[in-house]
Formats: sequence, C-alpha cells, structure tokens
Amino acid sequence: MRSRMIAGNWKMNKTYDEAVELATGLADELKDGTGSVDVVVCPPAVDLKGVAEVIEQKKAPFALGAQDVYWEESGAYTGETAPNMLTNIGAKYCIIGHSERRGYFHETDEDVNRKAKALLAHNIIPINCCGESLEVREAGKHVSFVVEQIKKDTDGIELKDPNQYVIAYEPIWAIGTGKTATADDAQEVCGAIRETLASLFGKDLADTIRVLYGGSAKPDNIAGFLTEEDVDGALVGGASLKADSFAAMVKAAMN
Ligand code: PEP
Repeated sequence: MRSRMIAGNWKMNKTYDEAVELATGLADELKDGTGSVDVVVCPPAVDLKGVAEVIEQKKAPFALGAQDVYWEESGAYTGETAPNMLTNIGAKYCIIGHSERRGYFHETDEDVNRKAKALLAHNIIPINCCGESLEVREAGKHVSFVVEQIKKDTDGIELKDPNQYVIAYEPIWAIGTGKTATADDAQEVCGAIRETLASLFGKDLADTIRVLYGGSAKPDNIAGFLTEEDVDGALVGGASLKADSFAAMVKAAMN
C-alpha cells in the first residue's frame, strides 16, 4: 500500500520573510496533522534554512525539499549547491529534472541521472520530474517519451527501499497554464511509468514507489487525480504558494 504525497514547488517565489510566513501559515493550517499523507515543501535555496527553522519550531507535519542540486561534493562551481549542504540544513527531498530546468537551463537526462545518484548517496530523496511537450503529445508519442526519460534518469541506480525515490509526471503543456491533463491522461502515463519501474527495479519495489501528477493541480481538481490507481499524489506549483489552498489539497488527499 502506497501512502500519498503532496509536494509544493514554490519555484522562484517568496523572499526569505515571505517563505517563513508561508511555512508558518501552512504549519497552522496543518496543525492537526496530515494522517498518512506525506507533505513536502520545496522553497528557493536561500529560503531553505528559514523554512527548516519553522518546521522545527512548530513541529510542522511537513518535510523540507530543495528545488535543485549539483552532483559534485564541493569546489569551484559558482552558484551551485552540493548535496551535503542540503543534508546539513535538513532537506529530505530534492526536485530534479523539472521541465523548467530542462527547458531554460538545458538540463539533460544525463545531468538528472548524476543528480539522482548524488542525492541518493546523501540519503536525500529525489523527486524526479518527467513529462512531454505538447508537440510530443500531439504526435501520440508521450508514453514512449516519458518511459525513455525515466530509463535514462535512473540508469545505473539501485534502489533498496521504495521510499528512496519519487517520480512526478508533469506534462509540460499543463504546467502553469491552467490546462490540466484529465485524470485518464495522468493514469495512462503514471501506469506506464510504474510498469517501467517494475522492469527496472522489480515489481515489489515498483508497486510501492510514489508516482505523482503535476500540472495545474488545484484544490478543486486534485480529488479526480487521486482516484486513479497509479497516481499517488501531486507536485503542486501555483496552488502551493498560499497556505490555505495547499492545505486544502493535503486535506483532500487525506480522504
Ligand atoms: C510544477 O511546476 O511543478 C507545477 C506543477 O506547476 P503548476 O501546479 O503551477 O502547474
């Protein structure tokens, strides 16, 4: 049985003070706990420490995630963040391969694979994003495209525990556009991802790795996705920027 996960990707939003305020508001909204739902918030790098302090002080029922990492341990890589820097401030998760990083910053599957390995070596759980463009979907190649991404991103990785890895299927055409995939669209690809995971890691592990949907998920449409067999939660962008809407999604996942 897989427990659900709701993860918030704050992207390049929220100054340090605003991030502390949002995390505090979310801790208040979720003060009665989140049941079996795992909740993660991924603020910008400069806000991580402040959010970590809120989590600790308020005993908040959510974990801290970063939005990116570099695969080297330390050194002359101006602007980058090493995995042990994330561990040191209490990050438990890290998004990798987000379509905005693949698109704007030319991140390749090989880069994503290196990042995944570096995170796993530091016991940080990757939230590995994948997803197709509108062009690929219209050509009817979305399933094979995403399956290839996952194979490349996880190449050479050995998992011992299904909780070491999370996949987020995020069709690019649905991110931040208000255009959501249907629950059936999400299930089609999330199901194919799970089959791929089974071929890579064995059925038992694949049956317990969480596969999330992301792309204009909101309080009023999350329930539909969660009824699908292979959708275990959501990676949420816009709707994670307000404590009440993100908390409403967590509460929907608790039902
Ligand atoms: C995202 O970028 O991870 C995302 C899902 O964004 P939004 O919910 O705003 O579409």
